Amino acid sequence: MSDCLFCKIAAGEIPSDCVYSDELVYAFNDIDPQAPRHFLVIPREHIRSCAEVSAENSAVVAHIFEVIAKLAAELGFKDGFRVVSNCGASAGQSVEHLHFHVLSGRDMTWPPG
Ligand code: AMP
Ligand code: ZN
Repeated sequence: MSDCLFCKIAAGEIPSDCVYSDELVYAFNDIDPQAPRHFLVIPREHIRSCAEVSAENSAVVAHIFEVIAKLAAELGFKDGFRVVSNCGASAGQSVEHLHFHVLSGRDMTWPPG
């Protein structure tokens, strides 16, 4: 999608701090980290949010979770980590391209705000 920030980041048109890249997904450090480690994993395909995941596009979501598990192991997140996807304005979604926050390096509280 031509006017989407994360499509542009995945395409390399806007600079980002890459954590992982393959033909299906891209991961990069969050510009406003909420934990000592905080990166985002996105599909290269433009999917607006969790609400638009369907039988046609869910394979990439499975792949994203495989990538998250691999990165968590490689980065030594042995004390735990959190995966968050905000869906919709009231949940705090500010960029309308599906993304999974991965946060680690501090204790997390529950419930989230
Ligand atoms: P959300 O608010 O759940 O939609 O998450 C969007 C995230 O994107 C926020 O945590 C922002 O800090 C992050 N973000 C926005 N612009 C950039 C950027 N250019 N590079 C990296 N992260 C960004
Ligand atoms: Zn997009």
